Amino acid sequence: MKGLKAYEDVAGLVAVSQLRQLADDLEGTKVVHVNSTRVGGGVAEILVWLVPLMQDLGLDASWEVVEGKEDYYKTTKAFHNGLQGKPVTLPPSKIEVYEETARQNAERLRPILEEADFVFIHDPQPAPLLELCPKRKGKWVWRCHIDVSHPVRKVWGYLKSKVSGYDASIYSMPDFAQSLEHPQFIIAPSIDPLSEKNCDIPSREIEETLERYGIPNDVPIITQVSRFDSFKDPIGVIEAFQMLTETMEAELILAGGGATDDPEGAAVLEEVQEAAQGNPHIHVLLLPSDAHRTINALQRASTIVVQKSLQEGFGLTVTEAMWKGKPVIGGNAGGIRLQVFNHHTGFLVNSPEGAALRMRELLRRPERMDVMGETARQFVRENFLLTRHLREYLTLMLGLRLGLSDRLMADQSYENPQ
Ligand code: UDP
Repeated sequence: MKGLKAYEDVAGLVAVSQLRQLADDLEGTKVVHVNSTRVGGGVAEILVWLVPLMQDLGLDASWEVVEGKEDYYKTTKAFHNGLQGKPVTLPPSKIEVYEETARQNAERLRPILEEADFVFIHDPQPAPLLELCPKRKGKWVWRCHIDVSHPVRKVWGYLKSKVSGYDASIYSMPDFAQSLEHPQFIIAPSIDPLSEKNCDIPSREIEETLERYGIPNDVPIITQVSRFDSFKDPIGVIEAFQMLTETMEAELILAGGGATDDPEGAAVLEEVQEAAQGNPHIHVLLLPSDAHRTINALQRASTIVVQKSLQEGFGLTVTEAMWKGKPVIGGNAGGIRLQVFNHHTGFLVNSPEGAALRMRELLRRPERMDVMGETARQFVRENFLLTRHLREYLTLMLGLRLGLSDRLMADQSYENPQ
């Protein structure tokens, strides 16, 4: 992780000095972030830079992770699925595992959480910690990263009982806000442009990465990087690719790994491998959780990046690809809509047929792809770099400390690049 100064070139001097000014009033403030995994998935990807940068700004920031056994992760994955609208049941036995694991984690974390000035609880997994820390002295914020626009009502009903006591909650876009009695804020995620995942890399390294995985680079490469999760629709991507390659040559990369808090990855991976079987142009890569440079190289090697999610909180993989100047064909879902503007930074699609059509259209007009890619990169620079994200966190903390009680929206309005 680089210090804040390193971002002056890429994000601008003003953006960085603004952060220092805001942070002046927060010096020494104790901030604790809590989530359920240190590796894998977008939340860990964000906390890896957010916590050190808060420290760099003089805040006393730290990151804690709730731990549980397999049953617990199965339950929290069911929560995740239910909140994103997939039919699930939550029998009392599962609720008991969830609550008991929260109690065990509370024993360990209570001293640091009760002392903190601000606690940010990420996603549903650690949500019950609030009621288990009765002597809390700070403000507690529930940061929801998932698409909760159409939750299974019973699942949301239960979770609501755990989050309604928070001082505020944060969502990635307005569509996800819920009926809750506390202030709700909108803060979109962002990427670290200097991380191993997103920094510039030599073209030789890109070629070597393709060679390592036996991927030809004399035809267009289409890539989706994702956890193996059914909401990411890897099977839909394979279907689209099969339709495309009826008339055009191309290679498909489906690259992904697991997250320690996602127990369903292995089953989805098996399904994907089965669907890809016998097609030498489909490369299913199971990557270790620290393969950031490999992902960087694969995204840069791609002609088009796809993120055909059916539900998506935000989709950092979309931002990452756009930053690398790639047009993105994205599922018309959740936070992808904040990033992909039809015909400008990519295309939104609703089916494998739609994805195939857009892939074909782009591949036939490479000059269009270049313009779109450039627009995409510029759009990320203006809206989805970590400086904007951090600024909104600092503003939120200052606002909460001043005791703002109105329903507020954070200060972003993403410009449509059209
Ligand atoms: N990612 C990764 N390895 C993988 C798959 C994904 O490092 O095998 C990263 C990806 O580059 C992105 C994050 O994990 O930074 C996924 O975030 P996103 O918001 O796209 O989806 P989530 O997994 O949080 O649903």
